[in-house]
Amino acid sequence: MRKREIHIVGNWKMNQTLHEISQFFVEMTKMKMELKCKAWIAPQAIHIPILKEIAFTTGAIQIGAQNCCEHDSGAFTGEISPLALADMGVEFVIIGHSERRTIYKEDNELLNKKVLKALEHNLKVIYCVGETLDEREANLTHDILEKQLSVGLANIPKQKAHLLMIAYEPVWAIGTGKTASAEQAEEGHAFIRSHLPHSSDETIILYGGSVKPDNIEALLRKANIDGALVGGASLKANDFRQLCTVASIVM
Ligand code: PEP
Repeated sequence: MRKREIHIVGNWKMNQTLHEISQFFVEMTKMKMELKCKAWIAPQAIHIPILKEIAFTTGAIQIGAQNCCEHDSGAFTGEISPLALADMGVEFVIIGHSERRTIYKEDNELLNKKVLKALEHNLKVIYCVGETLDEREANLTHDILEKQLSVGLANIPKQKAHLLMIAYEPVWAIGTGKTASAEQAEEGHAFIRSHLPHSSDETIILYGGSVKPDNIEALLRKANIDGALVGGASLKANDFRQLCTVASIVM
């Protein structure tokens, strides 16, 4: 098996109140887990400073953003500046989540600009790719992934390639309770690994789509699956802890 570091990344989307956040960390702290995997959380942008403070105190969790703008600053009302994220010591940013692609119509060309800008500021980038159910059923999965990778990751300088991570998230598996089988996921990951701009064994490729404590182990046992990007199951401390516990055992 490749030498790899397993990452469990919680995407909190537009969820969690301050009270729920403090409960989450109270419960996490009570569990006193010894983390062998990397545990990351992307909260709503407005909560990044408070999470960074808590994470600094508890030590174990790194904080990132769910999106960023393709520009550093200027007249872009409501956007999240990658320069400001870097300035605040944010570890990573998720770019190209399927909800950004479908609801906010972000295409591969725009996502490429965001990726390059985030890398310019040395933010780690989790670039999301994945096919819809229609595309899978029409046998277009590889074409879609190839396009998302070749356009979205164009012109990445070789010296920044170590900052790049990928999340393979079949759209039909996100928030639906339908996980890809470990074999389907592994096949997607192997395809992605062979289509990276600076082909690299070290690139972390996460799987995302209804990952839960009871299905994560089979996924992590696959050679090309280096962790998970988790929505629903990352919101509850108990589930998040269990995901990290399994990841620590599989490593
Ligand atoms: C996600 O939002 O990236 C995701 C995979 O969500 P869920 O785990 O709820 O399917």
